[in-house]
Amino acid sequence: MNYQYTKQFRQALVQWFLEEQRDLPWRRTKEPYQIWVSEVMLQQTRVDTVIPYYNRFIEKYPTAESLAYSPEEELLKMWEGLGYYSRVRNLQAGVREVVEVYGGKVPDNRVDISKLKGVGPYTAGAILSIAYGKPEHAVDGNVMRVLSRVLNIDADIALPKTKKVFEQAVTELIDHENASAFNQGLMELGALICTPTSPKCLLCPVRDYCTAFHEGDPSSLPVKTKKLKTKNIEYDVYIIRDQQGRFLMEKRPDAGLLANMWQFIMIERQADENSLTKVQKQYNVTLEHNSKETILSFSHVFSHLKWHIDSYLVDAVETNANPENTAYFTKEQIANLPMPVPMLKIWGKINA
Ligand code: SF4
Repeated sequence: MNYQYTKQFRQALVQWFLEEQRDLPWRRTKEPYQIWVSEVMLQQTRVDTVIPYYNRFIEKYPTAESLAYSPEEELLKMWEGLGYYSRVRNLQAGVREVVEVYGGKVPDNRVDISKLKGVGPYTAGAILSIAYGKPEHAVDGNVMRVLSRVLNIDADIALPKTKKVFEQAVTELIDHENASAFNQGLMELGALICTPTSPKCLLCPVRDYCTAFHEGDPSSLPVKTKKLKTKNIEYDVYIIRDQQGRFLMEKRPDAGLLANMWQFIMIERQADENSLTKVQKQYNVTLEHNSKETILSFSHVFSHLKWHIDSYLVDAVETNANPENTAYFTKEQIANLPMPVPMLKIWGKINA
């Protein structure tokens, strides 16, 4: 955006915000502590839900000092129903730091405010711009949506590093005379006009400066790759030891997750079957059931997959022909096999 456009964009946004903003309780104050409380409450929570909580909270704890040492049980009760309870614990810890280190005054610069517990880049920027009028970025989902459309930014907002792109954009665009109205204007525009689906472009105060509007497809922005749901699988892992002290291992298929790596015998746990019996049939082995010894229970996370593992050491009394891709190995041989981390963990425990 060239200088002239930037100036006009700022003016249009700020003026619209000053005239059209919703009357919300935290907009009637410039008190940094109170702005802080509102920003923490608004994380992952709708404005309508937050209003009564905010009013009650500020009535009970109007200052940093009044919140700093209130009993945790009382605090949790005030927060009850808002969820994400670590937010209020962090808020109190941060506020206590303000009281103890900064004499009750919330720091007015990004370096110090960012050191406070629970204050991330967005909250820091929101407090600095709204309460202190500093030209600091405060980038949340609404801001990314609006600016991705105005500036035609197609970076994937699901990636954490993309936030920096938008922080940089706000730093370049922000109105130094009206930082509070500028930042809040972006957020308000995202909440009311430039909504995720069907943005109301015809009512938009910055339509003239919006690239996506002129190019005709605002709804295609921002780019956001879908988060895949994590799949959970429960496994019983058997470390089967034969009478020569060797261990039965299986090579994973040559494609897909952990391709070609070696693992102990892994059986997906099913409610209606005994995995040990299944092992005997599938791997041609007779096991000494009484020897079964629990080794380790743990979970291991892959990008979109979580294995929940219970592992056991068990002795084989009889072994027959090995099924394909399986073999018995000595300890020394195992040390040279490529094994996935969960197997190394189990092996480490056995050898500890
Ligand atoms: S013109 Fe449309 S797409 Fe562009 S900022 Fe306004 S509402 Fe969003």
